[in-house]
Amino acid sequence: MVTASFRKVLCVLYDDPVAGFPPVYAREEIPTLTHYPDGQTLPSPAARDFTPGHLLGSVSGGLGLERFLTERGCRFVVTSDKDGPDSVFERELPDADIVISQPFWPGYLTAERIEKAPRLKLAITAGIGSDHVDLRSAIDRGITVCEVTWCNSVSVAEHAVMQMLALVRDYIPQYGWVVRGGWKIADAVSRSYDIEGMDVGVVAAGRIGLGVLRRMKPFDVNLHYTDRHRLSADVEQELGLTFHESVESLVSVCDVVSIHCPLHAETEHIFNDELIGRMKRGSYIVNTARGKICDRDAIVRALESGQLAGYAGDVWFPQPPPNDHPWRTMPNHAMTPHTSGTSLSAQARYAAGVREILECWFDGRAIREEYLIVQGGALAGTGAHSYSEGDATGGSEEAARFTTG
Ligand code: NDP
Repeated sequence: MVTASFRKVLCVLYDDPVAGFPPVYAREEIPTLTHYPDGQTLPSPAARDFTPGHLLGSVSGGLGLERFLTERGCRFVVTSDKDGPDSVFERELPDADIVISQPFWPGYLTAERIEKAPRLKLAITAGIGSDHVDLRSAIDRGITVCEVTWCNSVSVAEHAVMQMLALVRDYIPQYGWVVRGGWKIADAVSRSYDIEGMDVGVVAAGRIGLGVLRRMKPFDVNLHYTDRHRLSADVEQELGLTFHESVESLVSVCDVVSIHCPLHAETEHIFNDELIGRMKRGSYIVNTARGKICDRDAIVRALESGQLAGYAGDVWFPQPPPNDHPWRTMPNHAMTPHTSGTSLSAQARYAAGVREILECWFDGRAIREEYLIVQGGALAGTGAHSYSEGDATGGSEEAARFTTG
């Protein structure tokens, strides 16, 4: 067992609940799953020091790693203070060996920060989506980047379906009438439609995108997708899918578009004025992939003009978004904070996945191929399939403008 050379594990997690930790849980337990939809097994660490279904993703939850890391002789530093040069994250980085961060409250690992972390060898994403790491710099520095593939893909697919329905049926304003004490049915239905019969498309049919297509099938909609690799003919036939060679072709025929590609150099800002202008007037976009895949101001303009009838999702850029981020106040949105992939159910899976990765790393065993994004100075595993080399962290320093007050 190796311990001495792994001294410091620096972990960035979101703040504990305002009402205190732990929260009062709504349910006693979560279902036990054994396999993901494609047969991949769930994380299988040697042990877990947490109760599945408990809050693990906030600072006091510590991903359930405290005991394990302490027993391995590591110094485990957990903080939510991650932005700006005086942040705990930046102060602790210079002698950190391993960084763990979640996409929901990302500890951005920019080129400048990687430069300040000469000991850093492993960056683990407790979730899916490693765009908060400058992959180009990680490649150059020989840092291993990995994520817990599949851990929250179904969680996000469920959220995306919920938000498509919320937009098309105009759920949030209707709920608002109930809470305010009114009974204004004409007002409540004046933007409300059935999704049945609409054309619904996904940008990328990977684990999440395909999950969304499968979940939308029973709604009797016409399903479309675009991706770099085409799905099998069997799957296309089973779901009645129309494949589009380009995102331009897809958006021009769809009423609802749900975005599910990773953020990397190829996908940054693809939803700009030009692409949104090709959509049917009154279309809807749901983006649970990454905020920066959309041009922030183009989305606002399209909602204000009516080109888009609605926009929803849970991903922003940067995170947390400054208090004056226009998506907080733009019309006809149904945004949540970045929550889809951090349900209590998902947390149990990614906490176990992080522990499995750490056990492999400490014991000199190979990390599962499907968890790898960068290894040995190149894209690897899932990273080689789904990402491109580059850096999508530019502008992340804006997160320091967020204040809780
Ligand atoms: P997968 O790797 O299974 O799927 C990603 C898909 O995107 C792949 O099919 C890939 O294509 C495709 N893709 C990549 N680049 C392009 C491109 N330029 N154009 C079209 N398709 C492209 O990942 P998941 O489905 O599990 O996750 C997808 C993303 O969702 C994550 O990267 C992350 O950003 C986001 N996510 C968000 C969460 C949240 O909480 N909101 C939680 C989890 C993930 P191929 O491999 O065929 O080349």
